Amino acid sequence: MTPYNFNMDHHWLPFTPNRSFKQDPRVFVAADGMHFTTHDGKKVLDGISSLWCVTAGHNRKPINEAIKKQLDTLDYATAFQASNDQAFKAAEMIANMAPGDLNKVLFCNSGSEAADTSLKVALAYHRARGEGHRNVFIGRERGYHGVGFGGMSVGGIPANRKAYGTALLPRVDHLRFIHDPVNHAYIHNQEPVWQEDILLELENRILPLHDASNIAAVIVEPVAGSAGWYLPPQGYLKRLREICDKHGILLIFDEVITGFGRMGVNFGADYYGVVPDMLNFAKGVTNGVIPMGGVICSDRIYNTMMKANEGAPEHAIEFFHGYTYSGHPVACAAAIATLTLFKEEKLFERAGQMGTVLGDAMHRGLKSLPTVIGIRSLGLAGAVEMASIPGSPGKRAYDIFMTCFHNGVLVRPAGENIVLCPPFIVEKEHIDRMVNVVADAIRKHA
Ligand code: PLP
Repeated sequence: MTPYNFNMDHHWLPFTPNRSFKQDPRVFVAADGMHFTTHDGKKVLDGISSLWCVTAGHNRKPINEAIKKQLDTLDYATAFQASNDQAFKAAEMIANMAPGDLNKVLFCNSGSEAADTSLKVALAYHRARGEGHRNVFIGRERGYHGVGFGGMSVGGIPANRKAYGTALLPRVDHLRFIHDPVNHAYIHNQEPVWQEDILLELENRILPLHDASNIAAVIVEPVAGSAGWYLPPQGYLKRLREICDKHGILLIFDEVITGFGRMGVNFGADYYGVVPDMLNFAKGVTNGVIPMGGVICSDRIYNTMMKANEGAPEHAIEFFHGYTYSGHPVACAAAIATLTLFKEEKLFERAGQMGTVLGDAMHRGLKSLPTVIGIRSLGLAGAVEMASIPGSPGKRAYDIFMTCFHNGVLVRPAGENIVLCPPFIVEKEHIDRMVNVVADAIRKHA
């Protein structure tokens, strides 16, 4: 192991096997463009936009400059009972990018906070309109909505839930997962067409079980990202919208991953032509450089909450919710600069174009390899799925991830998948390198 000059005794690493990490640390000390530099001086290609965040690439000067300027102008100001100019500007830009009547932005600091914020808005909204009994949430198996108690409860990743027992929200149900490994193992830039209507389960089982009149909201990721880039069946989200409308249920899209260009357009909602009632975002909104998240709510939700307070005194707060750092001026300055950069460099269009290059390369280079049982690509992201090692779930993907890292490419292990989701500035030669390194690692661990 290469020597290092930092003490690793005190940092408890998140979502990381801490014991083995210390035997073989992966520590970045610098980054630029598509690459990191590690503590021992190696270059590593960022094949995952640093967990779907750094979509414009690392060390982007316009973002860095905007942050520095903001620090020297207004470093921080309380978010409660006052605000800052950058927060209004950032909210306007985000609302202008969002589809339909999604016009009101509640800022927070992460995707987890966005999930919990959206669930709280749903409850408060229904209560404001005299339907406070609507308190059941519907998530989906293998959905990921962060690690707060709300997000965990509607989330459907067993390992994230299993330790928390009755601390999870009590009135939650889950839609079945959206993958058919037999008929739709290999998908490239197309929507899987199912013979079966998998939302009949919602109409025929879940809604009657809880009674539709008790259901507050359904929350889904348009494409299941953290589970390993699983694509919804054709027409699924439209039909989900129709069912929710029919029963007065709010529809929340968690677009922490699919938002801000990953699908080649502003949001997954635009890609699928479905407008939710709330849209959660985080990660790419600031290029990952400063933490920020948020929920874009419909005018209808906002107006209902305001109207419910019509007779209330002037000092009455309409929604008792917020974070000390909601709309932090430095984060908002980073968001403004990031969204401007996306536009100036037409990065979403580029993500769409390079997505085809990535998908082509993955299907061509990985499909015939031993243990590979599926490849799904859409937008600038793709996942290759391998057969599980009996008795050791996730081990093969972890071993492949480690081998790729040692060969200079950062990939994402997700269950039995390896996910590639590079920054939008990716070039074909980077994609070829990523796919070749993944192919070698899959062969090695077959
Ligand atoms: N929602 C989705 C869809 C995500 O992919 C993630 C993180 O990957 C989150 C929520 C949680 O975001 P954070 O880690 O910023 O809390």
